[in-house]
Amino acid sequence: MSTLEIRDLHVEINTGEAEPIKILNGVNLTIKSGETHAIMGPNGSGKSTLSYAIAGHPKYTVTQGSITLDGQDVLEMGVDERARAGLFLAMQYPVEVPGVSMSNFLRTAATAIRGEAPKLRHWVKEVKESMSELDIDKAFAERSVNEGFSGGEKKRHEILQLGLLKPKIAILDETDSGLDVDALRVVSEGVNRYKERENGGVLLITHYSRILRYVKPDFVHVFAAGKIVESGGGELADELERDGYERFTRAAV
Ligand code: ADP
Ligand code: MG
Ligand code: MG
Repeated sequence: MSTLEIRDLHVEINTGEAEPIKILNGVNLTIKSGETHAIMGPNGSGKSTLSYAIAGHPKYTVTQGSITLDGQDVLEMGVDERARAGLFLAMQYPVEVPGVSMSNFLRTAATAIRGEAPKLRHWVKEVKESMSELDIDKAFAERSVNEGFSGGEKKRHEILQLGLLKPKIAILDETDSGLDVDALRVVSEGVNRYKERENGGVLLITHYSRILRYVKPDFVHVFAAGKIVESGGGELADELERDGYERFTRAAV
């Protein structure tokens, strides 16, 4: 049983200009094992900033508040330590890593996180099965990480990592964006398998409610102007689908 606790989180982006830009203005959120939280909000409201701050991206500075995982101070940890502690981020725009094959990348990541190299025979089988569950052609194992992948292929590979790395808490930043209906179903099934097998906690950041038909959230949070402005259950996603974000963005300014 794990708990990720975010308290009064304030974050700035260092853009290289003299003044950093303040993006998050006091985010409070608690995610426990087995729970699925959806954060929904308009473009530019700071959703990705929240995910980067949790993952420890160096461009994002926490100026106030705290993030803990099972009571441990996440903000004190480096990026690698956060991953080893059990945090996983599927980025909205996954990075390309030319010259590093998917299979090498996955094995290196799994070794770092598990603390020892997975036994080769067992590992090969595990990767094969996971790829087949996600309808990923086996040729991808030898391709460079994300290089030349379509948007949908990148997202499938994020979910492949999720299934193999088995984090305690997974943050999925717009993993549903740009997917056609078939890919959305495959990706959603991957998330649901992770929930069932690992009893993981999921933070699903999304712009649209359609993924929530496949991955059922226990809690829905509306994000506007750098914080959560309302929380509820699945019905809140239905309201957003129907009425849009206007009611919340007006209230947030
Ligand atoms: P969301 O994921 O909700 O669309 P983001 O967290 O990506 O929002 O962005 C929040 C705000 O921060 C936006 O106004 C965006 O333009 C701004 N922002 C993000 N990254 C940078 C950057 N590198 N330089 C300047 N502004 C940025
Ligand atoms: Mg955006
Ligand atoms: Mg974003």
